[in-house]
Amino acid sequence: MTEQRKALALISGGLDSMLAARVVLDQGVHVEGINFFTGFCIEGHTHAIRQRGRNKPKRNNALWVSEQLGIELHLVDVVDEYKDVVLSPKHGYGANLNPCLDCKVFMARKAHEWVRGRGFDFIITGEVLGQRPKSQRRDAMPVVARESGAEDLLLRPLCAKNFPPTLPERVGWVVREKLHDFNGRSRKPQIALAREYGIEEYAQPAGGCCFLTDRNYSARLTDLWTSRHARDYELDDIMLLKVGRHIRPAPSFKLIVGREEGENNFLEGYRKRFTHLRPTSHPGPLVLLAGEASDDELLLAARLTARFSQGRDATSVTVLLTDRHGRGRTLEVQPMPAADIPGDWSL
Ligand code: SF4
Repeated sequence: MTEQRKALALISGGLDSMLAARVVLDQGVHVEGINFFTGFCIEGHTHAIRQRGRNKPKRNNALWVSEQLGIELHLVDVVDEYKDVVLSPKHGYGANLNPCLDCKVFMARKAHEWVRGRGFDFIITGEVLGQRPKSQRRDAMPVVARESGAEDLLLRPLCAKNFPPTLPERVGWVVREKLHDFNGRSRKPQIALAREYGIEEYAQPAGGCCFLTDRNYSARLTDLWTSRHARDYELDDIMLLKVGRHIRPAPSFKLIVGREEGENNFLEGYRKRFTHLRPTSHPGPLVLLAGEASDDELLLAARLTARFSQGRDATSVTVLLTDRHGRGRTLEVQPMPAADIPGDWSL
């Protein structure tokens, strides 16, 4: 009897990695999944916070995909190690602060490290040649294999036939003819393959798999670095950048304004670490004040809080301002008119 081979599949929660794992599973290989939590993932975070799109299932798609495939999923926290990728990408950034090529090298390297000593024979990714402008170019894909150290053990079942055979193909752990030659930005081949497998439901991330591809998010991260005079972050920083409306009225402080009940509830968990404001005479948002503000600036923050409350058209709104030590004081303020909020305050 031939020995059953073991492969580790990088599972993002999207269709491509799901299909790649399925192609190899179908060849009788034992497949397990791995998903790396970088802190910037869209998966399972804002999905779970915001009330918007309530009709969509709130789930972690990597877990859901693994369940659909019937494979075990390993969730690995890489928040600290990933910082280096974001802060100093050797291959630079994409259109925003997305260091995609370095990120792919990092993930393949982590997967390669992880399989060592665990009895896995090779690694699978859902990459498709030409799908992304920077990280999935023909000349970039060998860079991932080489710089990650995974080399010949990195199999891309959806586009393997566009490249020379890897070790799993050469030694017959998988049959090359049953792999694919997808090439380009069109999603049609993936959708057709999904249909062939009877896969009707899958996540369709717009743009990318993480917040670093998002222009507004990247602007907020840049602002964070500028305000601190340092390119660094902690997990809480990058989580808070995903939530609320961000307004910076002065270099020394910014406001994070909950836009809906789900966000207010999320911000509630951070309340004790920040000076925070909340209207009491009218329903309105919880507002965190990050940084240091003078008395005049606190008044401005209260007027902005009133502006985003249901008392925005009232002549006066009562706002409770609580400092980091839990000391509260009440301010009666006139809501700031929309026209007085400069556009360049918004992040
Ligand atoms: S979009 Fe984000 S997670 Fe995906 S490769 Fe680029 S940096 Fe990495």
